[in-house]
Amino acid sequence: MKFYIVSKLDDVSVKISNELRTKLINGGAIEDEVSPNIVVSIGGDGTMLRAVHEYIEKVDDVCFVGLHTGTLGFYTNYTLDDVDLLCDNLLNKNPSIDEYSLIEVRYNNKTQLALNEIRVENNYHTQEIDIYLNEQYLQTFKGNGICLATAIGSTGYNRSLKGPIIHPSLDVMIMSEIAAIHHRYFSTLSSPLVMGRNTIFKMVIKPSKHILLGIDHEIYDDLELTEIECKLSDKKFKMLNYNEFSYVQRLRKAFLEKD
Ligand code: NAD
Repeated sequence: MKFYIVSKLDDVSVKISNELRTKLINGGAIEDEVSPNIVVSIGGDGTMLRAVHEYIEKVDDVCFVGLHTGTLGFYTNYTLDDVDLLCDNLLNKNPSIDEYSLIEVRYNNKTQLALNEIRVENNYHTQEIDIYLNEQYLQTFKGNGICLATAIGSTGYNRSLKGPIIHPSLDVMIMSEIAAIHHRYFSTLSSPLVMGRNTIFKMVIKPSKHILLGIDHEIYDDLELTEIECKLSDKKFKMLNYNEFSYVQRLRKAFLEKD
């Protein structure tokens, strides 16, 4: 087993990472930063997003597993007390693998992948965005922006926009409007829109200052953005699941259960 650990940089996460690294190597695993088959994220959901983006070129060949050292861990099945359990699972157990859809984002001759969502935002000026589905004009949006989330990302930014939580067994992407302008002469769909695998979602962006492109935790604020095309990628994000941790348990742990 070739592994690499991506850690948050706080003292606790670094200590846990060192402990796990030593135990895994002593157990016969090989640390390989360049081509690991397992990447362990130690920190929070932001650390998992960083880990995924660090290995995004190899996302089809890598499985991820997360241990959380902070408060909320949506992408993490293990806690601070589980270092030995995680080590034993990695060295000795056969996991099931949960696969999640990613969104492929194309702009300015670049292609990137998003695990949670992509968003176009402008917090300074009313942003106009024309939206097309498979080259058919849907609507012109005016407001702060548009968020396009994956099913597994639907509990992130999308949920704060009152977008639906989508079970990740569904291969869809969800458009939610961010602070849309509505009045008697102008309105938009305003409800979130859920789209399937055959949809190419295009945004034609009216030039303006202060436009941000957010792809998961990464923010780009210096781009000349005119057009963005998104669709569900053929590549998947894969998470190791040793303890049959279900999506329902993930939802309960993240949003419903008090300690
Ligand atoms: P971060 O890493 O601090 O994450 C922000 C919060 O979102 C954390 O509480 C994290 O646990 C949670 N989160 C991330 N992905 C999630 C998911 N799929 N389901 C449930 N909760 C999730 O912040 P960051 O690095 O700036 O952004 C990373 C992600 O955080 C973004 O992809 C976005 O989904 C989310 N986010 C949410 C809001 C919001 O809800 N208003 C704002 C900014 C970012």
